[in-house]
Amino acid sequence: MSTWIKNRIRSRGYETYMENGENFIDSGRIIRALETGEQAPPEQVEDILDKALAVETLTPEETAVLINLRDPELVRRMEQTAAQVKKKVYDNRIVTFAPLYLNNLCVNNCRYCGFRRDNEELDRQILSPREVREETRELAGEIGHKRLIVVYGEAPRTGIDYMVDTIETIYDVNTSPGVIRRVNVNAPPLQIEELRQLKEVGIGTYQVFQETYHRPTYEKAHPDETLKSNYNWRLYSMHRAFEAGIDDVGIGALFGLYDWRFEVMSLLLHARELEARFGVGPHTISFPRLEPAYGAPLSEQSEYAVSDAELKRIVTVLRLAVPYTGLIITAREPAELRDDVVELGCTQTDASTRIGIGTYSEYTVEQAKERQQFLLGDTRSLDEFVSDMAERGYITSFCTAGYRCGRTGECIMELLREGKEANYCKLNAILTFREWLDDFASEETRRRGEKLLKQELEEVRRELPDSYPRLKEYHDRIAAGERDLYF
Ligand code: SAM
Ligand code: SF4
Repeated sequence: MSTWIKNRIRSRGYETYMENGENFIDSGRIIRALETGEQAPPEQVEDILDKALAVETLTPEETAVLINLRDPELVRRMEQTAAQVKKKVYDNRIVTFAPLYLNNLCVNNCRYCGFRRDNEELDRQILSPREVREETRELAGEIGHKRLIVVYGEAPRTGIDYMVDTIETIYDVNTSPGVIRRVNVNAPPLQIEELRQLKEVGIGTYQVFQETYHRPTYEKAHPDETLKSNYNWRLYSMHRAFEAGIDDVGIGALFGLYDWRFEVMSLLLHARELEARFGVGPHTISFPRLEPAYGAPLSEQSEYAVSDAELKRIVTVLRLAVPYTGLIITAREPAELRDDVVELGCTQTDASTRIGIGTYSEYTVEQAKERQQFLLGDTRSLDEFVSDMAERGYITSFCTAGYRCGRTGECIMELLREGKEANYCKLNAILTFREWLDDFASEETRRRGEKLLKQELEEVRRELPDSYPRLKEYHDRIAAGERDLYF
């Protein structure tokens, strides 16, 4: 085991990208920007909002102005602009997925996580291929998910070979009409050769969260004899992913470990670094809040706990600062708050979520704290979620066409900045919504969904007349039983 740990981290996997031994999180610049951003006049705020509306990434100094904004009128303007940016880039769609926890073995000892090595209360589990199949059958065949994010701890038995095997198993399950079309991955930092293997097996987004970008806090949260204590190995995970040919990456921070303002500024610096070096920013940004985790004391008593109002500000600022990116809000958050932040700018969320290992196929919605990483705030079923969103005028999208048509990386960056991706996505959202209503919806959800679908078709007929005939044709073919038609 210790040889395994020793060989995991390759210093050239981060030193290559550093400049004079320094990484791109310039904390001096962050602190200065946050201090000076407090005195911005209203005209400067208006200029910043205009820039965001033109889908341009903001500078750290501009972002700090938005973080510090207090005048209620300007805050209202800022929130309206965030909603406008969302409408322009992503329209009224909310993409949905389910997390699938494949194991909870971990050599690390993160003080906030229930999977930490020293947590002796946890039942340790690793799903076998048969169990992965069962979980997938439930997710795809019964609930109706098309996208998963698979989540792994860090341990020798669940390294890259296990990851590749489990992802192949998931793609292989076909419970017609239920099938998983896209597997995103949340995994520990990997070596370049391993990332090539993930690319090969056909993953969607590769996610690694930095947890906290504030180095002293990072060091306190991750004991120094562990793999995860190496800040730079984690910070440059996405650089190695690009090097390996993965151009669809997700970054994030665990909010509540340190000052949320510093983390938002750092996420921006991370996005700008990827844009500058690879021409492509993060496809998604995640901002989970620290949740109470069984056997992880730090998760229950943090002086930096983020309030609901602060979470809404985080979403608003990120929506404006990195206007092209997807923003993910998860079922860690309570239902009402989740619904609100969708309006402010979130674009993706999970539903029917269960995070106990192997719990999808156990048909229980009870949370089992001794098997989970933390406890969830929202246990609504996918059907309930789709229905609630439809009532608010949001179409739940099950679309996975972008990555299957090569609309990732630089290509998608261009489309997003020009607001064109919204068009493709709208069309595919309609088609996948049609499929889902026919295959999985309850009667009540179907009733609400049909009403929304009618409005959406009408909107396309009016606003995208060139695309309408093909959309209508695909829509009718799906209604007659065909599947997986997309733009
Ligand atoms: N083990 C891998 C790693 O640490 O990168 C990936 C899986 S880990 C289970 C996924 C994410 O869960 C972590 O990156 C962290 O942000 C989040 N997490 C850990 N403990 C949490 C808690 N108590 N509340 C909310 N999120 C938590
Ligand atoms: Fe392990 Fe990830 Fe949990 Fe840390 S956050 S203990 S690395 S599973």
